[in-house]
Amino acid sequence: KLTSREFHPQDTVVDVDGVKIGDGSFVTMAGPCSVEGEEQIMETARMAKAGGAKILRGGAYKPRTSPYAFQGLGEEGLKIMRKAADAHGLKVITEVMDEAHIDVVCEYADIIQIGARNMQNFRLLEAVGKTGKPIGLKRGISGTIQEWLNAAEYIAVQGNSKIIFIERGIRTYETATRNTFDLSAVPLIKKLSHFPIIVDPSHGTGVWDLVAPMARAGVASGADGMIVEIHPDPLHAWSDGEQSLNEKNYLTMMSEVEIMVEAM
Ligand code: PEP
Ligand code: MN
Repeated sequence: KLTSREFHPQDTVVDVDGVKIGDGSFVTMAGPCSVEGEEQIMETARMAKAGGAKILRGGAYKPRTSPYAFQGLGEEGLKIMRKAADAHGLKVITEVMDEAHIDVVCEYADIIQIGARNMQNFRLLEAVGKTGKPIGLKRGISGTIQEWLNAAEYIAVQGNSKIIFIERGIRTYETATRNTFDLSAVPLIKKLSHFPIIVDPSHGTGVWDLVAPMARAGVASGADGMIVEIHPDPLHAWSDGEQSLNEKNYLTMMSEVEIMVEAM
């Protein structure tokens, strides 16, 4: 298979317009769960940059559990996120949920995120594969490692070799955390595939004060980076405030992570 280590023994480095993922460095993507407005995304981009993140995350098309919850700002959200990222020298990762939005997302984003709920939306995987853009492929909510590798294969078979796996936790019987963060996926994916893998300790735990310890554990596991939710005012975030870090806690985490990276 195209994604397998057997087929391609060397590590694949994904070059996101100059930011390299999988080259032995540890790349941080940080930003709010949802883009909420220009002031919020501009301020969050400033925070992200101050901590050393290279890529700004933020959702403009949100896969919410309830149809009555905030669904995202759509193209307006993409536009202001791009502006905030450019103002701070950051790249952009954002989710696409629907084939119909691929063109507009490609216009503004550097990495297309496939959310956990769409890991097995095979037509969407083929369509994003065809764009040739770097793809951040989240693990499905109940996705096995083999299903996840097959999802990546759907992208790779379109001629796209810019895949970044994102471990974001899986559903188990445990309810004390939002998901069960499966860090064993990191060395396992690295053994089975040549593509880089990053961790998402925010969705992996769902609890803000568990994020930094699991980010440090992510470094120890050998991950190529992380994606983390931060917000200027987590208590008033429009989505995922419980798992978002404020500026002080984010900066502390980033200095701890830097120490871990140097020690590795
Ligand atoms: C997100 O990144 O905000 C998100 C919705 O993540 P996931 O698809 O992992 O639930
Ligand atoms: Mn979120």
